[in-house]
Order: sequence, then structure tokens, then C-alpha cells
Amino acid sequence: MKKGKVIILVAPSGSGKSTMAKRLFKDFDNIKFSVSATTRPPREGEIHGKDYFFLSDDEFSKRIEEKDFLEWEEFYGGKRYGTLRSEVDKILNSGYFILLDVEVKGAVNVKEIYGDECLSIFIKPPSLQTLKERLIARGTEDKETLRLRLERAEEELTYADRFDRIVINDDLDTAYSEINKLVSDFMNNQ
Ligand code: ADP
Ligand code: 5GP
Repeated sequence: MKKGKVIILVAPSGSGKSTMAKRLFKDFDNIKFSVSATTRPPREGEIHGKDYFFLSDDEFSKRIEEKDFLEWEEFYGGKRYGTLRSEVDKILNSGYFILLDVEVKGAVNVKEIYGDECLSIFIKPPSLQTLKERLIARGTEDKETLRLRLERAEEELTYADRFDRIVINDDLDTAYSEINKLVSDFMNNQ
């Protein structure tokens, strides 16, 4: 069986990664999601093992020591997030494409590891103001977390050029059809 390849959606929080990922899963049954580990608490409706593996600080540190992560980063007031090697290998070895939802530094690291076996798409909000409005409307962040995420977004936007493609998420359907085409082309280019 042919080994799968890696697709990364990368963007500042609130730019539309989860929305795009959901659509991709609906349209492509050969893509699987890599469940990351995190030390942040679950949001309402999030399920352990499906959205994230929610770990304590001690558990996360133990996983680092055991070299279980392909990459990991710490942000948002000390919260850590990491891609589990076991998840990635399991999916790639069974011939599926894997979709990673990671922040910019993690994405740069993964792109470096997988090279041409990886398509990295940076999703850009039309403006920081729109990003703020969307995050407020999503209603999942308290005031302080919102501030931290927006502050970080400004820095993250400066990384856009380091990825294979940039898609501006202004009109949702337009942006998604661009992403859908990039992913189809990448798959057909095997
Ligand atoms: P991320 O996963 O990058 O944090 P989300 O996919 O959760 O971002 O999107 C943030 C919020 O913005 C969600 O409430 C989503 O429904 C909304 N959203 C995403 N894309 C658009 C768009 N093009 N126009 C308007 N709202 C959008
Ligand atoms: P959230 O708390 O909104 O779920 O995620 C916050 C940020 O963490 C997002 O930008 C998301 O892409 C990123 N993230 C999620 N999982 C990982 C991971 O395994 N590694 C890295 N580096 N970032 C991740």
C-alpha cells in the first residue's frame, strides 16, 4: 500500500481552520485528522481522543521525555500543544492523507520534516479587525484569552510566506473551493 501524505492547514486562531477542515472531511473520505495532545482544558462539547487528548502538565512532560511528539509548542499563557508521532504514523501507514491543524511554528517544523510529501496551506483572515469580530462571535474565549490570541495573530501573520500556499478567507465558499482544489491537485499529483 502507498504511504499517505501530510496536509497542514495553518493560520492564526479564528481564521477558519476548523471550518475548512470540517468541509474537507466531508468531501474527501481519504483524509483523517491527527488528534493532538494539549494541556488546555476542553471547551464545551470537545471530546477526549476526538478533538484532543487532554493531558495534565505532568502527563505532557512525560510524553516529551519519552519522545512521543513529532513537534510541540507552548503558548497562550503556558498551554502546550503537540503532534503525536503515534497518531501520524498510524494514519500515514494505512495509506490515508493526514490533516494537521497546528500553529505556525509547529507547521514550519512539520513542513521541514516531510518536504514535498506535505502540502501546507496558510489561511489568512481578510484583516485583523475581521479576525477579532469572528473570534468574538465564536464566543469561546474570555477577554484575556482573546487578547492573547489577537496579539499572537499579528506575529503569526508574518509567517504566511513560509508555506506552500496562502488562501484568504474572506468569503467562506470562495476560500473553501480554493482549498478544495489545492488538496485535489496535491492528491492527484502522486
Ligand atoms: P479556527 O479553527 O482557525 O480557530 P474557526 O473555523 O473556528 O477558526 O472560525 C472562527 C469563527 O469564524 C467561527 O465561528 C466560524 O464559523 C467563523 N468563520 C470562519 N470563516 C468565516 C468566513 N469566511 N466568514 C464568516 N465567518 C467565518
Ligand atoms: P485551540 O486552543 O483553538 O484548539 O488551538 C490553538 C492553536 O493550537 C491553534 O492555532 C492550533 O492550530 C494549534 N495546535 C493544535 N494542535 C497543535 C499541535 O499539535 N501542535 C502545534 N504546534 N499546534 C497545535
